[in-house]
Amino acid sequence: MNDVKTADWPGFDKEHIWHPYTSMDKPLKVYPVISANGVRIRLVDGQELIDGMSSWWAAIHGYNHPVLNEAIREQLDKMSHIMFGGLAHQPAADLAKSLIELTPAGLDKVFFSDSGSVAVDVAVKMTYQYWLAKGKPEKSMLITIKSGYHGDTIGSMALCDPVTGMHSSFKNIIQQHLFVEAPSCGFYDEWDESSIDELSEKLKQRHHEIGAMILEPVVQGAGGMRFYSPHYLKRCRELCDQYEVLLIADEIATGFARTGKLFACEHADITPDIMCLGKALTGGYMTLAATLTTSEVSTVISAGKPGVFMHGPTFMANPLACAVSNASIKLLLSSEWQINIQRLEKQLTTGLSPCNEFNAVADVRVLGAIGVVEMKQAVNMETIQQQFVNKGIWVRPFGKLIYLMPSFIINDEDLDYLTRSVVEVIAGV
Ligand SMILES: *Cc1c(COP(=O)(O)O)cnc(C)c1O
Repeated sequence: MNDVKTADWPGFDKEHIWHPYTSMDKPLKVYPVISANGVRIRLVDGQELIDGMSSWWAAIHGYNHPVLNEAIREQLDKMSHIMFGGLAHQPAADLAKSLIELTPAGLDKVFFSDSGSVAVDVAVKMTYQYWLAKGKPEKSMLITIKSGYHGDTIGSMALCDPVTGMHSSFKNIIQQHLFVEAPSCGFYDEWDESSIDELSEKLKQRHHEIGAMILEPVVQGAGGMRFYSPHYLKRCRELCDQYEVLLIADEIATGFARTGKLFACEHADITPDIMCLGKALTGGYMTLAATLTTSEVSTVISAGKPGVFMHGPTFMANPLACAVSNASIKLLLSSEWQINIQRLEKQLTTGLSPCNEFNAVADVRVLGAIGVVEMKQAVNMETIQQQFVNKGIWVRPFGKLIYLMPSFIINDEDLDYLTRSVVEVIAGV
């Protein structure tokens, strides 16, 4: 087989390859990329775009980072992959050790898998096996908050927001879970105890059917880019303890300093029973995810029937992915990341603030290295995407949300250009 001729490949892509959430017959425009370096994405036609997305929360150190490249090269010469059934390797052990040390105290068992969605499925399966082992198989439902996003597999999409998620298309094949309204108390608001009433009431009524509560701590990502009060999370922990419900923190988007804490659970100083990690875990180089849990959960699962945890992906704990994760975590910890995230937060706040004046804008909010402009109406994605590209920036809005989550290495000048260009485009909406 020959490769598609270089000049033809974008046309081939259009005819044959699905992109995320797109039609095969009427695909939205895609921009062919030839390389990426630092915060710059280079298109085939030579144009350079300043990246505002970190490839969906993942590329926290930018692209083509020499240290991360070297980590992969070094591992590549030893082995790129080896099955994890019956075999073990140091890159996985090193990574598990870092994750155990860095995440909230008590999470000390690690399950590696392929992607964030699978890490959530693994968390759901752990929950079910836990309650099965405890002789309570009826605790098979999960409870969650609306506006959440937990992934695209059959298991994880059942936990996404029932309206903006995919429930209408798949309602006959997804598990029914319980939903409460998203927290009304914002991140910067004074805590209002009534924000927890609905959850408290539902747990009181139905805890005997509920195995776990799952939520994205403090920042709800793809389901609405909402920032809610850490106190809500604290109260979730208390209620879950009170009603014997496990707490699953989906830190796939928030993990590794994006919100200004290494993990968003730290805003509320809580330890969940299960935590899911992904996205920035590998510094955005490869796909890898981890589901962490406590010895309490692992002991119960192991004491039950069948006495083993029933999951084992082919590429579990892929050594290349573990090696680059280890390098990415070291890089992050050796940087002055707290100060750096504060710099990004400050600059995003100032840079996006002119949007507050525009009629078409409903809200502007910033937390850590996340800047969100919520419009009153959904934007025309194809048009606005082109306008951003014309300005030389890469920003991918969805629905009413135009948001920036730049890589942590972006310098003041590039970030200033990014926010200024976003403001200019939104001014024209
Ligand atoms: C992206 C995301 C997922 C799914 O991760 P994939 O790697 O895309 O499967 C799950 N939960 C949250 C909070 C996410 O942001």
